[in-house]
Order: sequence, then structure tokens, then C-alpha cells
Amino acid sequence: MIDILIIGGGAAGVAAGRRLSGEAVETLVVEAGDRLGGRGHTRDIAGMKLDLGCGWLHSADRNPWRALAEEAEVEIDRTPPAWRTQFADLGFTAEEQAEARETYAAFMRRLRETPPPSDLASDAMETGHRWNCYLEALSGFMNGAELERLSVADYLAYEDAAGELNWRLPAGFGAFITGAGDGLPVRLGAAVERIDRSGPILVAHTAAGPIEAHTVIVAVPTNVLADGRLRFTPDLPDKVEAAARLPLGLANKAFLRLDRVEPFPPDSQLFGDPRRADTGAYSLRPFGRPVIECFFGGVGARELEAEGEGAGLDFGIEQLVGLLGSEMRRRLTPLVETRWGQDPLFGGSYSHALPGHHAARAALARPVEDRIFFAGEGCSLRDFSTAHGAYETGIAAAEAALAALPSAR
Ligand SMILES: Cc1cc2nc3c(=O)[nH]c(=O)nc-3n(C[C@H](O)[C@H](O)[C@H](O)COP(=O)(O)OP(=O)(O)OC[C@H]3O[C@@H](n4cnc5c(N)ncnc54)[C@H](O)[C@@H]3O)c2cc1C
Repeated sequence: MIDILIIGGGAAGVAAGRRLSGEAVETLVVEAGDRLGGRGHTRDIAGMKLDLGCGWLHSADRNPWRALAEEAEVEIDRTPPAWRTQFADLGFTAEEQAEARETYAAFMRRLRETPPPSDLASDAMETGHRWNCYLEALSGFMNGAELERLSVADYLAYEDAAGELNWRLPAGFGAFITGAGDGLPVRLGAAVERIDRSGPILVAHTAAGPIEAHTVIVAVPTNVLADGRLRFTPDLPDKVEAAARLPLGLANKAFLRLDRVEPFPPDSQLFGDPRRADTGAYSLRPFGRPVIECFFGGVGARELEAEGEGAGLDFGIEQLVGLLGSEMRRRLTPLVETRWGQDPLFGGSYSHALPGHHAARAALARPVEDRIFFAGEGCSLRDFSTAHGAYETGIAAAEAALAALPSAR
């Protein structure tokens, strides 16, 4: 009999497990996949630690993963991101960059000062504006979704709370999250298909058999709840609805090994084509390594996933060759690409609220019967879509479960 069963071993589940270790309670983390970390996933490829999921310690000044990394004396790279720069102004003149940046700033001012009553972010765009594609591309990267699918209130909740500092872990953010789960009681490869809440004891049904628990913390991605891959009996339609209003947008990465690093300075950046909503963005030589990290978001990421395996790598190479010349083709070697939307354990990359539904985050986070608790980035009111947001919801759910345990037992 488990006191507090944690379902999902991503950043939120690991945080919950850590918070409960040392308490006089029986806990278990059940994870469907074959590793902890979830959307934090570092792979060692061609001698480089590549983060296929989260890479940035956003809001680093108040990021609990940063604090843990410092405590563990893990190296932190504090180089500021080059996101809004363009290596050698290629395909995007300095004047155009200034215009595009001002278009984004004006868009943000409209969101804040005269938010559209529809709560639809796309309603704050100027019809026919030259840089609307640029705004859409940015939304794709940041939210994994087009502006017409985005709640203004939700977007601002994140933007207004986000800090300026964005740092990285050279040994891998994903690896750090996975490692933070070392020593926790964990069962891998155990997808929970159903939680039976009809009796006084909760029963989590997995392919390997049932697990009984007094309380559970559900820390799976919103899409898993919305699609019924994890369900409750009797049903919890409010939770399914809240999760469906917080779908995971799509962002993917592809890594290309770079033969001969000149003339690219370490940590430089290229916007593939600022006139296309479905463009890629390219981090050249992150950490000074001989690699290019391609990033696709929103409509661009969806199109490439739909095209099939290898499409992200091919598209990245084509855009880079277009900007840097045909000689680049033989200098780039495909290493790995992600297709987060195709993975049934996730079904996407990070959550955004549909227009009118920022409140779904609080609705999803609300406990049921004081014995079923919810965690995960989708439950965070302001730091959703991040690993630190996930962490904080895990801690909050663990503390709530701990407080509720005496009456649930
Ligand atoms: C490409 C990409 C880039 C990103 N970049 C950043 C970044 O730079 N900075 C940042 O902070 N965040 C970033 N994120 C987002 C961040 O990775 C996530 O917000 C965070 O890791 C989510 O943690 P979580 O615990 O909520 O969910 P997850 O990590 O998704 O964990 C949920 C776990 O539940 C498991 N699971 C699913 N179904 C079941 C089931 N039925 N039974 C049991 N287990 C189940 C899954 O396998 C998974 O391990 C990025 C994400 C992606 C995909």
C-alpha cells in the first residue's frame, strides 16, 4: 500500500518525489517511459550532451533547478542567449531586424494596454502587417502554437512573471532532472491507464498490475489526460475538459554536426527566414561546440512532423544552405531530431491555454476529494511550459498530499 503514488516521472514528478523523501510516508514514482526526466532529456551524441527537450533555465534568478545545480556544484553557463540577433545580418538586415523587433514590442503593448475582448492573441495583430509572419514564428517558438490558438491572458501571465536571465547547464538540463530522481523509489515502464477512485483506496491500473494508494499525484502531460490515455473511474470530466483547454503546442529540435566551425562565433544565432511563419531558428555553436541546434515551433514544427522522419534535419540543412551557401551542405552531418508530437507519452512539447481559458490551469491543479492531486507544467499559473514551473507544481502537490494523508489513510 502506497501512501502517495506519483504518476509521471518528469520534472514535476521528480520534484514531488524529492519533496517527500525523508518524510515518514511510503511513496512510489510510476513512469510509463524507460527513464525519468520526461520532456527533460539529454542525449550524449558525437561526444556532446544534447538537450532534446528543455535546455534553458528560464527566469534563472528564481529558478529552483538553478538553485539545485548550484547546490550540487554543477556547472552553469551564464552566457546570455543570442535569440534576437542575426549572425552577419544574413537575410535579415539590421534595419529589418529593428522593424521586426518594434513590431513585436508594439504587439505586446497592445496585448497589455488594449487586450482584445476575444482573448485571442491574433486579434491584436495589425491586418496585413509586413512582419505578421515574424510574430507568428515567434509564437511558434515560444508557445508551440499560432496566435489564433493562444489566450492573451495566459500569454501575459507568463510574460509578466518571466525574469530576464536565461542560463544553461553544459552537462544537460535533462540529465540534471533525471539525476535529481536518483534514489527515489521508481517503477519504470509502468504506464498508468486508469485510476479507480470508486472505493476508499485508490487503485492505479498499469499493464503490470494494480497499485493501491491512499493518495495520488497525477503529473502527466495535459494531452495524456485530454486524450484519455490516463483516465479515471468514475470519470472526472472537469479535469479532461481543463486539460483539453491546455493542449501541448509543438516545438522540435534537430542537431547538425558542424565540420569546421569558422566563421561562426560561439553562441550565435540565425533566424531562417523572418518572412515565414514556419521558419526554423538556428543556434550556431551552442557552448562553442561544433554543432547547430535547429529549432522549429508551431505550424513549422507540425508540418515537418507530418512530413515524416528526417524532415526536420533536411529542412534545417536547406535553410542553412540557403543562407550560408551550398558549401555548407557537406559541412553539416545530421545527428538527431525530435518529434515530440509523435510520442504517445507526451503528444506535444509544452502547454498553452486556448483563448478564454487561462483559468483552466487553476481548474486542472485543483485537487479532487483531497486525495487526487495534480502537478506538471500545465498546472502552473505563470511558469507553465517550463521545467521550473513543473518543479514548483510538484512541490505544491507533494505538500498538499502530505497534509491530506492523515484523513486519506
Ligand atoms: C523541444 C522542447 C524545448 C523546451 N525548452 C525548454 C526550456 O528551454 N526551458 C524550460 O524550462 N522548459 C522547456 N521545455 C518544457 C519543459 O521541458 C517541460 O515544461 C517540463 O519538462 C515538463 O515537465 P512535467 O513534469 O510537467 O512533464 P513531463 O516532463 O512530460 O513528465 C511527465 C511524465 O509522465 C510520463 N507519463 C505519460 N503518460 C503516463 C502514464 N499514463 N503513466 C505514467 N507515466 C506517464 C511521461 O513519460 C513523462 O515522463 C521544452 C520542451 C520541449 C519539448
